Amino acid sequence: MRHVILIISAVIIGLNAFALPKHSEDYVTYHGYSVIRVIPHTEDQFKLVQKLSESLKYDFDFWKPPSKLNKPVDIFSPPTMTRQLIVHLKKGSLMPVTKIRDFGKRAAEAQMEVSSYKSSDAIDPDSFDFYKYHPFADIMGYIQAVAQKYPSFVSISSIGKSLQNRDTQLLKIGYPSSTAKNALFIDAGIHAREWIAPATALYAINQWVTNSSYTDLLKAIDIYVAPSINPDGYEYSRTKDRNWRKTRSGPRQNCYGVDPNRNFAFKWMVAGSSSNPCSETYAGPSPFSEIEATNLKNFLVPHNDTIKAYLTLHSYGEDILYPWGYATGQYPPDVNDLIALGHEMYNAIKAVHGTEYTVGDSGDALYPASGASDDYSKSIGIKYVYTVELRPGDGDNDDDQWYGFDLPAKFIKPTAEETFPALMAAANRVQNGPF
Ligand SMILES: [Zn+2]
Repeated sequence: MRHVILIISAVIIGLNAFALPKHSEDYVTYHGYSVIRVIPHTEDQFKLVQKLSESLKYDFDFWKPPSKLNKPVDIFSPPTMTRQLIVHLKKGSLMPVTKIRDFGKRAAEAQMEVSSYKSSDAIDPDSFDFYKYHPFADIMGYIQAVAQKYPSFVSISSIGKSLQNRDTQLLKIGYPSSTAKNALFIDAGIHAREWIAPATALYAINQWVTNSSYTDLLKAIDIYVAPSINPDGYEYSRTKDRNWRKTRSGPRQNCYGVDPNRNFAFKWMVAGSSSNPCSETYAGPSPFSEIEATNLKNFLVPHNDTIKAYLTLHSYGEDILYPWGYATGQYPPDVNDLIALGHEMYNAIKAVHGTEYTVGDSGDALYPASGASDDYSKSIGIKYVYTVELRPGDGDNDDDQWYGFDLPAKFIKPTAEETFPALMAAANRVQNGPF
């Protein structure tokens, strides 16, 4: 039934040309845009939320789509729709709460931060500021500098160029060995606006390369870190549109970009994906239409015998999600192994600052979404596969402010500090099995 609803909504939304103002050459101001949260408690309320775009004839960007009863849904709403949206929600006995009153203010602050950023030609890994959101060029500059500084156990390579010709590099951290080593693969930034993900990946790299207590681990396994795998989208989110999620291909029907995390060739377009090029979850004209998704696939497939764990860092929600994501109630045969490591990661995170993540099946705990890199990785035989949705959860408020994707830089430190032990739990599993 849910699939039918999704397909019907995709068709209806496809007929309407209600796109966000994303074609301007100027910075998108988002003046008066808000984020409204509701928690559906009954089936009727859930259906009402699922059909919002259809009922109100506006293609809402669900920052958090409806997943299941009693789970929050976050709706990004332009000022022209907010009143109507609230009235409609209240009619269904839902209680809308304004989580962000004016995203325009946050977007303006982000723009100020970006425009005051000073790039450095020569990056010294020892003085690199991990608690800032860096441009793609400096993220690459940092990993190049790390490879140069620690040549005995760190090397750099490329997974390929983005559509706009940005060279997407990754680090391999691990001592050379005469026998094949098992590996952990971590990527971040497939969704452009989720800035906390690349920042967390850089922090982790620094821990592994500067702390000698990881030497034995790095003799036993390799750790690949690709800290920014949608560079065109990421730069666009920094310089033009703080809310940008997708790649930058197109235009198609006057809209740019494909959701690269709906573009992988496993159960493509089965659920949680749109065929409308203006949608935030547009799956693309065909699987692997996006060079960024293809690049990642081209790296993972030939390494699928040695990569034992694949972690993809996203935000937000504080979740540790394992396959399958394409449907609810569908699990791989070794799901108990995935749950076990998921709980180890949960405990590791909680031990640092008390933050409690949710461990669950991606389709059950989040929402069905197919064609994503996690399901694809599992489908090619990688054993331990997780999507990690970083902060914020319901915490991280100051003065009643809440941030969603636009988590201020001061939250990088606690987020990265608590995430690193979870990455270590995965690394230890790669070292020790079972597989
Ligand atoms: Zn994401």
